[in-house]
Amino acid sequence: MIKSLSIFFFFSVFYVTSFCQGRVENIIIITADGLRWQEIFSGMDSSIARNKKFNQGDSAYIFKTYWNDNAVERRRKLMPFLWSTIMQSGQIYGNRIYNCNVNTANPYKFSYPGYNEIFTGYADTIINSNDYPNNPHINLLEFINRNKRYTGKVAAFTAWNAFDRILNEQRSDIPVIAAFDTTTSKAPLSKMLNEMLRNSYKPFGNNECLDMFTHYGAIEYLKAKKPKVLYIGYGETDEWAHAAQYRDYLNSARQTDKWISDTWNYIQSDVNYKNKTALFITTDHGRGDKNKDQWTTHGKSVDEANEIWFAVMSPNVPAKGEIKESTQVYQKQFAQTMASLLGLIFEANHPIGEKIKF
Ligand SMILES: [Zn+2]
Repeated sequence: MIKSLSIFFFFSVFYVTSFCQGRVENIIIITADGLRWQEIFSGMDSSIARNKKFNQGDSAYIFKTYWNDNAVERRRKLMPFLWSTIMQSGQIYGNRIYNCNVNTANPYKFSYPGYNEIFTGYADTIINSNDYPNNPHINLLEFINRNKRYTGKVAAFTAWNAFDRILNEQRSDIPVIAAFDTTTSKAPLSKMLNEMLRNSYKPFGNNECLDMFTHYGAIEYLKAKKPKVLYIGYGETDEWAHAAQYRDYLNSARQTDKWISDTWNYIQSDVNYKNKTALFITTDHGRGDKNKDQWTTHGKSVDEANEIWFAVMSPNVPAKGEIKESTQVYQKQFAQTMASLLGLIFEANHPIGEKIKF
């Protein structure tokens, strides 16, 4: 009896272990531009919400929608998917209350250097402007696309048009559908989406579209073309913060969480993706905080703007939820970490931050 029980136990452990480390074939990478760790981990900031300069004359709505005295309840109101599904099945880094620190390694604390660091694993100080031309460094998406298993199965959808340069669309040979780029997919909704995009409200000018077009463009592509690597770069959180509109900033964070949830639900409903897809979510930079007026801004002179966060959920990453241990990781480690989720080692002609151990 004891012997057969131990054999049973052995096989159960073997089965559970091999299930947990199941082969991951796909990855969805998501960024929410300039979304602060302060809201991710503590939800809405009441002092910003009360300030007439920032609350768009509607603090009643903001408090009713996002406030709770308890920070854990409060953050769940802002990002319900992050704090339920990912909390249960993934890992979430960046709560500095527990000294779980995630930082940019680049000193600039704005977008092009941040996205360069995420995708190349190299915080090259030469990349010092959002107008920087085509990125000279090989990025992770292009590296994966060169692998025969993945060629033609990698795509990026981004609200901001600078990604054409950040991901060097010319050289990288992966589709970068940025801002007002239209898609040629034969997906049924694609024609309509293109038409709506062209004629949409353009509060951020011609360099950036509303996130909804980026999102639905990406989802249509996911359903029609089944990419193995898909990057979705949302931009509105940063735009509304710069506009000092805290209500819109919070609404856009909550909307992004909803879209991540929709994307994940689709992933888990499709045999091409179910239980073999990783999700990696992060941001390009932080924003100010101690001086509350600085929540709107970021950049080299804003102390806390190098403070970021990330979340990961993948069949080969143990479920630990919110990380409450003293940790220090850097944005330049994300590229190799994402490669490792797919069982790959990212190699390029530049230094690459080492993978994070989960
Ligand atoms: Zn910005």
